[in-house]
Amino acid sequence: MYDPLVNAPPGPHDAPEPSYWQQHTQAEFPECVDAPEEVEFAVIGAGYTGLNAARVLAENGHSVAVFEANQLAWGCSSRNAGFVMKSTGRLGLSAWAERLGADIAQDIADEHQKALQLVEETLRYCPSQCQRQNGGYLKIAHRNSAVAPLKQQYEQLKKFNQPVEWLTQNQLSGLISSPQAHAALRFTDCFTLNPILLAAATARRATAAGAQLVEHCPVTQAVSLGGKGVYLQTAKGSVRARKLLVCSNGYTSGKLLPELASRSLPVLSSIITTPPLSNEQVESIKLSPQYAIMDTRILKYYFRLLPDNRLLFGGRGAIQGKSAEKPIYAKRLLQALHQTFPQLREVNKWEYFWSGWVSVSLDDYPRVGKVKDNIYASMGYCGAGVGFTALAGQRLAEAAMEKNLPELPYYQSKLKPFPLPRFRRLGQWLYYHYGRLRD
Ligand SMILES: Cc1cc2nc3c(=O)[nH]c(=O)nc-3n(C[C@H](O)[C@H](O)[C@H](O)COP(=O)(O)OP(=O)(O)OC[C@H]3O[C@@H](n4cnc5c(N)ncnc54)[C@H](O)[C@@H]3O)c2cc1C
Repeated sequence: MYDPLVNAPPGPHDAPEPSYWQQHTQAEFPECVDAPEEVEFAVIGAGYTGLNAARVLAENGHSVAVFEANQLAWGCSSRNAGFVMKSTGRLGLSAWAERLGADIAQDIADEHQKALQLVEETLRYCPSQCQRQNGGYLKIAHRNSAVAPLKQQYEQLKKFNQPVEWLTQNQLSGLISSPQAHAALRFTDCFTLNPILLAAATARRATAAGAQLVEHCPVTQAVSLGGKGVYLQTAKGSVRARKLLVCSNGYTSGKLLPELASRSLPVLSSIITTPPLSNEQVESIKLSPQYAIMDTRILKYYFRLLPDNRLLFGGRGAIQGKSAEKPIYAKRLLQALHQTFPQLREVNKWEYFWSGWVSVSLDDYPRVGKVKDNIYASMGYCGAGVGFTALAGQRLAEAAMEKNLPELPYYQSKLKPFPLPRFRRLGQWLYYHYGRLRD
């Protein structure tokens, strides 16, 4: 499988295992066009970030083309679990309050709220509302000792006026039957959806606004010409643009732009789904498709029951792209599923198994804005981007149009370079061992 730390930009037709969504969704993507030779704004990557950025630029009267190495939304935007959460990165509001004070933490909470509203706006462009499920996002204490810190997090969130509920073990036992569910924090306004339908609706909005979408067209070289704009070499010819927006996120090849090469760690997140569960099996775990669930481990597991009774279960994957599709990683997820739901021990095979690259930043939060000269980028969501990308795309477009962005950490500095970047994966491997021991 394509590995951003090893390979040149992906595609065209660089196909890893397709996700469940790709095989079960009739999505209406808009028509793509030929690559233009000249455009005002060029965008690399047609995931949620790039498509939202392109729409905002087009709505503001600019000419914009999105270059996607494979088919539209080929990256994380067609592979995720579909949890629309009010967060990004790995820092909670109380961590922000400790770092920068309660006012900034409140502003960050408001920014996340805006992101959620923007996703809701896009849902209106999809007749099925992208198969939205409204039960909320449950963060579940997977063991007794995790209950007190989770309760503390709940109390902090209340201080920031977040719509959250506390579920005791007793209350939670009505929603899920698992020995690893000791209490839960419920984010009542978060929801789940079908990620491909969201990508298709986002793409339709972008073309309706006038953006040109070009697929099977990897950008293989991007050079800043200083005041003269940017030169791009693509699989379909060269392109001159006034400005470049890099929205390839976790899929950004280390070989594309030296300015970004050492500032992100591409990490594989992987998912399995079971075959459809019988009604008895669903009753035994008590789960309804309404809920999105994540646990409190350092190396978190996340899961949801799909509307067709398949159980989707995700967590960390391999470290290197060349190992991503080895069955051992699916087996590990199946083992974790059995620990979460011993009732499902007889479900001894997975039906779908796939992975995607998320971009992890050194200090656990993303950056959106100028990289240098006429080049802008948005990356480092640390695996939480379905909600945030709607706003990240907008903010990135605003930065490229030289509008002022809110004075928040996401927008006011560049991603930090990893020290000893050649050893990022060794650090990741050590972290996985530490996490496994702690969990
Ligand atoms: C298994 C998994 C589960 C996840 N679950 C959730 C979840 O439930 N909730 C949540 O909030 N987040 C989740 N995420 C993360 C979320 O999916 C991402 O944060 C989000 O989709 C990022 O969107 P994006 O547009 O920035 O990047 P992507 O969707 O990854 O798009 C980047 C695109 O850039 C293209 N590209 C790369 N290089 C080039 C090039 N040189 N030229 C042209 N094109 C190029 C790629 O082909 C790709 O299509 C998950 C991620 C994974 C992998």
